[in-house]
Amino acid sequence: MQLAEIPTPEPGPGQLVVQIHAAGVNPVDTYIRAGTYAKKPELPYTPGMDGAGIVLDVGAAVKEFRPGQRVYLSGSITGTYAAAALCEAAHVHPMPESVSFSQGAALGIPYATAHFALLTRAAAQAGETVLIHGATGGVGLAAVQIARAAGLKVFATGGSEEGRRLLREEGAHEVFDHGAAGYLKLILEKSGGVDVVLEMLANVNLANDLTLLSRGGRVAVIGSRGPIEINPRELMARNADVRGVMLAGSADPLESIRIHAALYAGLENKTLRPVVAREYPLGEASQAHEAVMASGARGKIVLLPQSE
Ligand code: NAP
Repeated sequence: MQLAEIPTPEPGPGQLVVQIHAAGVNPVDTYIRAGTYAKKPELPYTPGMDGAGIVLDVGAAVKEFRPGQRVYLSGSITGTYAAAALCEAAHVHPMPESVSFSQGAALGIPYATAHFALLTRAAAQAGETVLIHGATGGVGLAAVQIARAAGLKVFATGGSEEGRRLLREEGAHEVFDHGAAGYLKLILEKSGGVDVVLEMLANVNLANDLTLLSRGGRVAVIGSRGPIEINPRELMARNADVRGVMLAGSADPLESIRIHAALYAGLENKTLRPVVAREYPLGEASQAHEAVMASGARGKIVLLPQSE
């Protein structure tokens, strides 16, 4: 990745240009950059799907936003690792005053994915128990806060002491180390079986997840970096399900409107409080890509384009 000067985009009739104050760095940005993702962009391209900033310019048909408004993005036409991004109106969401730009950059993929996985795909209900397997990163911390506010009993795992402390602060009832021997047994003992698992690393954990489920339990697979062998009998014995989660492209437009309305309400009433782990200038995007793939997560990694 390298910095380059390009002209600021002009909005078409249904489009907006947003000045980006913070861009969210997601693992998927690294898969796309490395060329290992299914969908590959034409080169050269500007990476980034998430961001937050101020509306600079709106096209003639855009009625719901005005220049100067604080917004966050769930996608863009031109990429968010940039000083300004061209967007469709559907990419743009209003942001409460109390939410910082860096926090806003944590919303698009992580919070929307956590909401979709927990409440739509896994259909989690108040009073149920959820295991958030890999809870210290962008999606996991969002899931901890959403699950806690929705009345679930929250079990969460993290790989570092600092990450696990953060999980307790953010509302997890029980916290475990996914690097420690015997942690799965502990989860089973403390929970008596979990109703839902949100899985961030299915290629490592899926076979074990099935053994933690209660009857009618659901595993929502959010992240996986390779294949894994499972024993289908673990599913049969529990009438359990494994459900895939792919926010991009599969959530219908109404679903997206519902999710972002719920996120706005949660931000306003402060049950949702994005945690920013580290901020980098835009020119250090390469270091930010290394950081997002390293272990020891403790929230969101963001780029600050206006600091150049
Ligand atoms: P992130 O911020 O980089 O966090 C990665 C998480 O994985 C951390 O909590 C990390 O914990 C945890 N982890 C590491 N080793 C683990 C293990 N053995 N078992 C369980 N968890 C482990 O990434 P993210 O943005 O939260 O995304 C998480 C995954 O979901 C990524 O693979 C991403 O590509 C995927 N994702 C999918 C969708 C979708 O639509 N399906 C959307 C967003 C993200 P420690 O660092 O504390 O060890």
